[in-house]
Amino acid sequence: MTSDSTSTDSNYFRCLETLPVATICFGGDDRFLFANSAFQNLCTLNNEELSQLNAAGLKAHLADSELHPSRISGPGMFGASVSPQDNLRHLKDGRVVEVLHQKLSLPELGDIQVQQWVDHSTVGRAFREIETELDLLLELINQVPDQVYFKDLESRFTRINPALAERYGLDSAAEAIGKSDADYYTAEHAKLTRSEELEMMQQRRPVFNQLHHERWGDGSESWNVCTKMPIYSAEGVVIGIAGISHDITEHKRREADAWNKASYDGLTSLANRNFFLESLHARLLKAKHYHESFAVLLLDLDRFKEVNDTLGHSQGDTLLVQVAQRVAAQLRDTDLVGRLGGDEFAIIIEISELDDINALLMRLLKAIEQPVSLGLEQVAVSASIGVAHYPQDADSAEQLLSHADEAMYHAKEQGRAGYTLYSSELSVKTKRRLRLASDLRSAIDTGQIQVEYQPVVAAKYDRVVGAEALCRWHHPELGPISPEEFIPIAEQTGLIQGLEDKILDRVLEQLVWINRSGVSVVRISVNISPRRIMRESRRLYGLADELQALGIYQSQLVLEVTEGLLLDATEDVLQLFSQLSGQGFTIALDDFGTGYGALSYLMNLDIHQVKIDRSFVERIENDASSQALCAAIISLARTLGLTVVAEGVETESQQRVLQGLDCDYLQGYLFGRSMSGELLMELLADQSARENLKLSE
Ligand code: C2E
Ligand code: MG
Ligand code: MG
Repeated sequence: MTSDSTSTDSNYFRCLETLPVATICFGGDDRFLFANSAFQNLCTLNNEELSQLNAAGLKAHLADSELHPSRISGPGMFGASVSPQDNLRHLKDGRVVEVLHQKLSLPELGDIQVQQWVDHSTVGRAFREIETELDLLLELINQVPDQVYFKDLESRFTRINPALAERYGLDSAAEAIGKSDADYYTAEHAKLTRSEELEMMQQRRPVFNQLHHERWGDGSESWNVCTKMPIYSAEGVVIGIAGISHDITEHKRREADAWNKASYDGLTSLANRNFFLESLHARLLKAKHYHESFAVLLLDLDRFKEVNDTLGHSQGDTLLVQVAQRVAAQLRDTDLVGRLGGDEFAIIIEISELDDINALLMRLLKAIEQPVSLGLEQVAVSASIGVAHYPQDADSAEQLLSHADEAMYHAKEQGRAGYTLYSSELSVKTKRRLRLASDLRSAIDTGQIQVEYQPVVAAKYDRVVGAEALCRWHHPELGPISPEEFIPIAEQTGLIQGLEDKILDRVLEQLVWINRSGVSVVRISVNISPRRIMRESRRLYGLADELQALGIYQSQLVLEVTEGLLLDATEDVLQLFSQLSGQGFTIALDDFGTGYGALSYLMNLDIHQVKIDRSFVERIENDASSQALCAAIISLARTLGLTVVAEGVETESQQRVLQGLDCDYLQGYLFGRSMSGELLMELLADQSARENLKLSE
């Protein structure tokens, strides 16, 4: 058939020629009749080549196979499906064409078959690409552990992903459709979310990475980071909300745990040092801004170390927890208490005037002093508290703490179990104490500290029978420093042992000298610090051997201890004393009557001698009760088989009264102040010479 045919049929083909759709016609016998240019272009065959093919031949020549339905069908986005397409052909060159068949009858040619081949390659590829994209997206939504949801304009779910369905406890995601937040969260939370979403839809404004604290209907709480955006129809109208929430509850919990660990003391649950200091800085800023005032307290337990050493650390911990609770119970919510470490607590108290704090401090001390049951023991501890006030005493956190520390130190020095309010005089004292503490070590090493001896006489015979070794510090710049000032510093800085060892060396040398010189045999008393005995008493255990090697009698060495030691005496200390006593040493209880004075202690320890404190001797002439007390001490000592030394005898009338009370020994300025070892030797030599003279008369 040619294009210039003028028959009706030719007109028909000419008409087909103008169509943009690729069209081919076969006769009733499948023979090729006509292909328009669009068809020739599509199959890149000209009419002549086409005329060689019938319908089946053409199909075989061009088409690879009929497209298998599964290659283009299956679940699409949101579950849509594509129906199989029977009339789709896959050409050998990869294109996909849809073949539309039509049968018609023409006047001259009779029944003919018209095929229109529509090239779907571009559309199909795009469709498949979209579908692949959608599949990927769907896969992502279904697999992602984040919660994905779509809501309509009423904030009702239109779709949720499996992760959210699982969080809601649903068997399938479809169960959530039509539900809203009110079905899963508290009414309040749902209301809040709804109003946020409404605003978002009205303002067409998304939110990104917003932190959400969710409160669930079952009472649980969770945290998530949420991104939400309005979704639009093809026309750009808002039709709902899409959201993705990433649950960070576990992260938040770990973060809170870490913060708690970093901020709170694991044992007492009080603020730890860091958190307390941070809070103090913050409190200070606020106080400065609003012109407020507050106080900082430093509270340190007295003799806590001994509880730890004797009852063990776990009982020590129990005690700290109890103290923490008792302290916290005395404070208001607005106050802050922290444990700075060990047995040291710090408190920020909201007060305007320092005067207001006394009652609280008394309450705190009293609460702490209540006995605590530690295992089988009932232990009573006390605390020393130092107080500094903002703005009165300092205007920086560091200074407030350091002033409170100075005040606390002072409270300890005053005999513990008390409190001290900071004052600027304390600062002067503190500076001196720090200076002495730093000079003390070299003073011990360079021999600035010397030993002097104060004679002790037998009351009846007015004869020197011994001496007390007393240390003296001649500071090159500050002059003489009293042992009452530097011994506590040596104790606190741990230098006491080295110091006392040096003193003991001198005393033993002095005794060797006395014994060799042929003067009368005397005793020398040495003061032994309770702190030293508690800490390190190895030398004392070996003292008997040391003396033996030097040819000194044990009875020549008197060890003076104070009552404080008896109060704190541990099993070890008791054992040491019973050993020393068994070896023949004399143990004297110094400053008797000034401390706690529990007489039962006298029986607990192997004491041989008591030294009546000079404060009683001082008043013995005029004060009847002092005299009665001295009389009672002497008679008690007699009953227990102890000897008595009266300290601080300055006058002859004091001497007479004490002699009248049958006191054994007297010591004081009346008989001599402390003197060098050489002078003591001279004194003893004179005495021996006098006695020898008497004997020879
Ligand atoms: P203490 O052991 O009670 O020593 C007696 C103190 O009273 C000495 O003061 C002495 O000089 C003083 N004294 C003696 N007679 C009189 C008197 O008639 N009137 C007055 N007003 N005072 C008198 P010192 O030497 O200042 O020692 C004070 C304290 O320092 C001692 O009290 C003792 O507890 C301690 N101490 C002194 N030397 C040592 C030492 O070597 N080791 C230790 N651990 N402590 C020592
Ligand atoms: Mg003494
Ligand atoms: Mg004394």
